[in-house]
Amino acid sequence: MSLEITHLGSGSRGNATLLQTEESKVLIDCGFSGRQMERRLARIGVDPSTVDAILISHHHSDHAQGADIFSRRHGAKLLANFTTCANLGFDPVNRCRIFEALERVQVTADLSVLPVPVPHDGADNVGFIVHSGSSERAAVVTDLGEPTDELIHHLRGCAHISIESNYDAKRLALGPYPPSLKSRISGRGGHLSNQQTAELLAEILTSQTKSVVLCHLSSKNNAPHLAESETLFRVENWDGDLRISTQEGPEFSHWLGQTEAEILTR
Ligand SMILES: [Zn+2]
Ligand SMILES: [Zn+2]
Repeated sequence: MSLEITHLGSGSRGNATLLQTEESKVLIDCGFSGRQMERRLARIGVDPSTVDAILISHHHSDHAQGADIFSRRHGAKLLANFTTCANLGFDPVNRCRIFEALERVQVTADLSVLPVPVPHDGADNVGFIVHSGSSERAAVVTDLGEPTDELIHHLRGCAHISIESNYDAKRLALGPYPPSLKSRISGRGGHLSNQQTAELLAEILTSQTKSVVLCHLSSKNNAPHLAESETLFRVENWDGDLRISTQEGPEFSHWLGQTEAEILTR
C-alpha cells in the first residue's frame, strides 16, 4: 500500500492537493478553475477523468472554486461537511456526500480520511488525516487561526504533514493591509503565522514524521525563506524532508509506504 501526495499549487489564489494510491486518485480541495486544474494535472501525467473524488475543506473560493465544474466535467464525486456543502449551494442529497467531523470517511476502496475541525473565519473548515491501508498516515491542513488540542493530537505521529505557514508577523504588521484585515488574518479565525506553525511543529515532530510541506504562504505577507527559516530555527533534532509549496505547482511529490528503490523505479 502506498500513498503519493502532490501539491498542485497552494496559496491565496488557489489550493489543490492530489492523493494517489494504487487504486485511486483523490483531490483535497479544487481551488483553481477547471481548466487550470486540468493543466496542472496534465503536467504530472494525470488524466482528470481518473480522479475519483474531491474532498472540500471549506467553501472559500481558493479551495472550492473549481470543484463544481471539475466534478461535472470529469465525474469526480464531491465530499464536504454540511455547512460547506450549503455554503457552496450543492444539493446535500444528490450532489455532494456529507461527512461528519471526526468520523472516518471511506472515500475510495483504498483511501479513507478523518476530517478534523479547525477554527477559521466564518467557515466550517476541516483538516484531513489520510489513511491508505498502511499504518502510516498523512495530514493536510490549511486555513486555521490557531492549532487546537484535537488537531495536535491527530497530527502527532503522521508520516507526512502538509500545513499552512501563512504569514510573517512583522511583514503583516508593516504591510499594506487595512488594520481590520490584519487583525482578521492574525486572529483566531484567520491563518497560522510562521511562528505559530514552527512552534506547533516543534511540539509534535519526531522521527515518525518523515516529511513536512509548508503551504498556503501569503504572497504579500510572507516569503519562502522566512517560513522555512522560522521552522528550522524552532525545530530541533529532526532530519526529515522540509519543503515549501508555492502558488505555481505541481513541483514535487512525497510517498508513504514505499522504499526509495520502489519510488525510483516508478
Ligand atoms: Zn479559507
Ligand atoms: Zn485558503
